[in-house]
Amino acid sequence: LLKPDRQSDFNETGVYWLGESNTVFLDPVRMLNRSYSRFQVSASAYYTRFFSPRSSRGWKKRKRKEKRKMKALNERELLAEQRHQEKRSILLRAHEALLGDQRILDIIKNLRNETSLAQERFHANEVSLLDLGTVYQSPFYHITLSFDHHFHLNGDPSIVPHCQKSSVLLFNNMVANETNREGEAEFLDNNYIIPRQSCFYMSDLEHMHNLIPAKSDCGYNLIVIDPPWENSSARQKHRYQTLPNRYFLSIPVKQLTHPAGALVALWVTNREKLRSFVENELFSAWGVKQVANFFWLKVKADGSLISDMDLFHHRPYECLILGYCGVKDTEVSTLKSIPDNKVFVSVPGEYSRKPPLGELLKEYTPGLDSARCIELFAREMISGWTSWGNEPLHFQNSKYFLHK
Ligand code: SAM
Repeated sequence: LLKPDRQSDFNETGVYWLGESNTVFLDPVRMLNRSYSRFQVSASAYYTRFFSPRSSRGWKKRKRKEKRKMKALNERELLAEQRHQEKRSILLRAHEALLGDQRILDIIKNLRNETSLAQERFHANEVSLLDLGTVYQSPFYHITLSFDHHFHLNGDPSIVPHCQKSSVLLFNNMVANETNREGEAEFLDNNYIIPRQSCFYMSDLEHMHNLIPAKSDCGYNLIVIDPPWENSSARQKHRYQTLPNRYFLSIPVKQLTHPAGALVALWVTNREKLRSFVENELFSAWGVKQVANFFWLKVKADGSLISDMDLFHHRPYECLILGYCGVKDTEVSTLKSIPDNKVFVSVPGEYSRKPPLGELLKEYTPGLDSARCIELFAREMISGWTSWGNEPLHFQNSKYFLHK
């Protein structure tokens, strides 16, 4: 068993430091649950993959195939391989730290069973926000919000909750829950759970400039970006539309940045072409100076890696590149320094769903004590954050939640 304080810290935060290493195990379900009081994220709906022993079959065959191909790597692939070799030992050490901690391995095994399937509710057919956003009626769609407001009645000092309903435009509109309790929203027979103190703006990239704050001091101190990079897997699986790299050059990172500066965190794939685009073009177009790399190491329920470390096209890790925007070189030393090569380990959820690392980045943000945070290309919402993308309500659908 974990010592009671470590166990209760982990239960509350979803974050578990592995000994002295630079490695942290995360349970995204516990992390997300910090945004809710009446509902909880369903662990069985989150952990839809990597809990079945069969999910390792494919890559063993792939590895044999790749071994043959590795002999003829082109120049770019050689660079990718070199980059991998530089980080390989750090990642393997992080994995060893996980395997050396039997207490956390026991927890991982049971993550999915922590909410019972029996509690799952009936759900209407899920609407596709991606499809509805593209039809000619989309500017007219409304969503019904039910948020609790609290009142003092006739001088009575006790607070009385009162549920207020309102109907607001769904697309191209900043929709906010400014109350201190999660609210519910309804659209075409689908229900969505909206965390307290959170906003979403659902639009296509072409309307993104509407996010630029009218007053610069309403800019953001923390900007997390997970673009729909082109890759064969997203395309083949028809999960979402991907975009060519040049589209991302126009993301108005500078204009979204708070006058005190912002920490920008960008998820990237392991393709060398993409890494050199980010390092040589994208960050300079955005005015971002790179400061560190974090890694997300993906494991299965038994603690093993989701694929072989050396599988060229299916690495078991992804990288989050961190940089500052609007922070002068002389100011960097006044900020809490960001450790390079920190490794976050978790069991992945649905396809391309990232662990909610944003909250853990707050300690490194420039500016205010209470950082203003935004996630771009988001598919979920978090208390205290603005979520933008063409489907920020996706994982807010009530099918991913249970009533407490
Ligand atoms: N970070 C997300 C998560 O953890 O679930 C995954 C983001 S996924 C890599 C990229 C997102 O960008 C998808 O939700 C996709 O629908 C969205 N997207 C694709 N094309 C877009 C566009 N033209 N405008 C806005 N969002 C777009």
